[in-house]
This record gives sequence, structure tokens and C-alpha cells, in this order.
Amino acid sequence: MSDTIFDKIIRREIPADIVYEDNDVLAFRDIHPQAPVHVLFIPKKSFATLNDVGEADAPLLGKLLLAAAAYAKREGFAEAGYRCVINCNKGGGQTVYHLHVHLLAGKQMPERMA
Ligand code: AMP
Repeated sequence: MSDTIFDKIIRREIPADIVYEDNDVLAFRDIHPQAPVHVLFIPKKSFATLNDVGEADAPLLGKLLLAAAAYAKREGFAEAGYRCVINCNKGGGQTVYHLHVHLLAGKQMPERMA
């Protein structure tokens, strides 16, 4: 079984600035923020990458994105705008192998992704 730093955060073995939690999803502030708002939304169920999510867990992907959108609405920046990013594997820039969605906001995002 893979055991990443995010699994340790889920088990409360290491601290994190948690901003949202439900039965399936945990969200906490990124330790190296790339924007004024930088929150990571992770499933409590462990998937190393987006490639590892099967059809049966499609609703969980929806929950992750909806949790991010609900957070943006609650915090008042949904209309101004935000960016959600999933990095997959080394070529995608992934460094922690527990699936996560980056929610970035609070500054103008470049129109080009890369
Ligand atoms: P990625 O490169 O897409 O795998 O993103 C991993 C993210 O996790 C990076 O933005 C890191 O800054 C962030 N990160 C790593 N360790 C922690 C931690 N202990 N608490 C919060 N964020 C973390």
C-alpha cells in the first residue's frame, strides 16, 4: 500500500491547515502556495494518480471538483474566478502520489497553461 504525506494528513499524523472535510474529501492549504489562495482537495480513498481512478470511482472525481467549487463560492471568489489543476505523473509535474486537485485563486492566472 502506498503511504504518502497526504495519507498521513488524512490520519492526522502530521499537521495541515484543513479548510474542509466530509466523508470522502479533505481539503487543506498547500504548504508552498503558488497563489494567494492555494488549497489541495484530496479523496480520502487513496489513488496514486488520475490514471488509477476506475469507472466505479467517477462520482468521487465529481465530488472533489464540486467541493472545490463550493469552497470558492463560500469564500467569495467563485465569480472572480479560479483555476483547478490535476498534475499526473512525472511529466505532468506530480510530486505527491495521492490524487489531488489544486485550487488556485486570488490573482490573475495566465491565459496560457504552459
Ligand atoms: P503536485 O506537484 O501536483 O504533486 O502537488 C503536490 C503539492 O503538495 C505541492 O504543491 C506541495 O507544495 C504540496 N505539499 C507537499 N507537502 C505538503 C504538506 N505537508 N502540506 C501541504 N501541502 C503540501
